[in-house]
Amino acid sequence: MALPGVSSQPIRSGYDTIIIGAGVQGLAIAYELAKRGMTDVLVVDRSWPGGGASGRNGELIRSAFASTEWCELFELSRQKWLGLSQELGMNVLFNRTGYAVVATTAEQAAQCRVDHDFQAGLGIRTELLDEREARKVLPAANPDLVRAAVLQEQAGFAHHDSVVAGYLENAARLGVQVVSGVTVTGLLRRGDDVTGIATACGRRVEARTVVNAAGGQALEINALAGLEFPLVASRLEMIVTQPLKPFLTPGVAALELLGYCHQTARGEFVGGTELPRVDESTSLNGTWTVLQDIATKFVQLFPVLAGTRLLRHWAGTVSQTPDLAPVLGPVPEIPGYLLSVGWVYGFMGAPAAGELLAEHIVAGTIDRRMAPFGIERTRTGDWIREGSLVVDMDLDEEAA
Ligand SMILES: Cc1cc2nc3c(=O)[nH]c(=O)nc-3n(C[C@H](O)[C@H](O)[C@H](O)COP(=O)(O)OP(=O)(O)OC[C@H]3O[C@@H](n4cnc5c(N)ncnc54)[C@H](O)[C@@H]3O)c2cc1C
Repeated sequence: MALPGVSSQPIRSGYDTIIIGAGVQGLAIAYELAKRGMTDVLVVDRSWPGGGASGRNGELIRSAFASTEWCELFELSRQKWLGLSQELGMNVLFNRTGYAVVATTAEQAAQCRVDHDFQAGLGIRTELLDEREARKVLPAANPDLVRAAVLQEQAGFAHHDSVVAGYLENAARLGVQVVSGVTVTGLLRRGDDVTGIATACGRRVEARTVVNAAGGQALEINALAGLEFPLVASRLEMIVTQPLKPFLTPGVAALELLGYCHQTARGEFVGGTELPRVDESTSLNGTWTVLQDIATKFVQLFPVLAGTRLLRHWAGTVSQTPDLAPVLGPVPEIPGYLLSVGWVYGFMGAPAAGELLAEHIVAGTIDRRMAPFGIERTRTGDWIREGSLVVDMDLDEEAA
């Protein structure tokens, strides 16, 4: 049985806009286009809506970052998250439990102060918690590992399936056609222009605009367009445990541990860690190595987790640029081809990206919050330096 919102109608020979990928990015763009009256839109997915990283992520949402570019884009998104359930007429289960970036070292505690002051300068409200205050907000955390925190209230986590369903059903209700089980294997060209897609079953579908929102497979679609820039696939893993009594209120990022987590309303602990290297493999199964890393670090941080049973352990793939920031917008030398790729924080960023890219498709504008994320920086090497990401990144080493 098809998901509500997935079309069983035949694909037509042409559309104004085709979006490759029915993840949260592709569906948010489609919904925002339809909201602006542009309903001649086809979204195609080789699997099912939300079958990529959008249904496999940590669900965390914040806008308190350490660079102007990230803060401004993600603050627009957070503002939209606040009203998203109401706008979509569907509860996306946005738990505004707060989001704490936790310092586990003295050096990071000092950085917390810098980040907090920086965020305040941009009008993003966060609280700087000293050791004592941070331990109070995280009473179950190992006190030896909590040195300070930056807490953003009105941030937290939402339910990824509800978000995908909300965008999907609303886009479909407004007239967008979303089809699953259709793999794009080629792009139609007229000179330099991209003018449509070719699918695995031999169908050719024309469009004025084709958007690459193919998540971890975005590189493959770029290859079909003959487009090259530094973008790699990267595999991440997560776990969810059996329900536990409430012990953790805010969503947490512990930068030194390369870990992020939250506890759901049902009591399950959801967490993931990242290894200090990019895993370009594509399996969606969890691995023993990462499971050990996740278990070791989170039992260290929250000793209450010792002996807890796992419910599930899984993986998902994203595409990432050297600065971990998305590439959003047009490709000057390929008219008709747009990008919404390189998303590592693409769940929380989807409401903003959907709006800004839709606005670009409809009106040709490039909003100031979208502009820094254009393809240009992948050519100049003028990377965005964002210091508050859960990742082991050294841009200077990258550039060397
Ligand atoms: C374990 C993990 C934890 C994460 N935690 C967070 C978090 O806490 N907060 C956060 O903001 N982000 C998080 N992310 C990242 C976030 O999930 C992604 O950035 C986001 O989901 C990207 O959305 P998307 O729509 O671009 O990609 P996807 O959801 O991957 O969707 C892309 C779609 O394209 C389809 N597709 C691919 N190739 C083709 C083709 N040739 N033809 C047709 N369709 C195709 C795929 O089937 C897929 O459904 C996490 C990711 C993972 C894996």
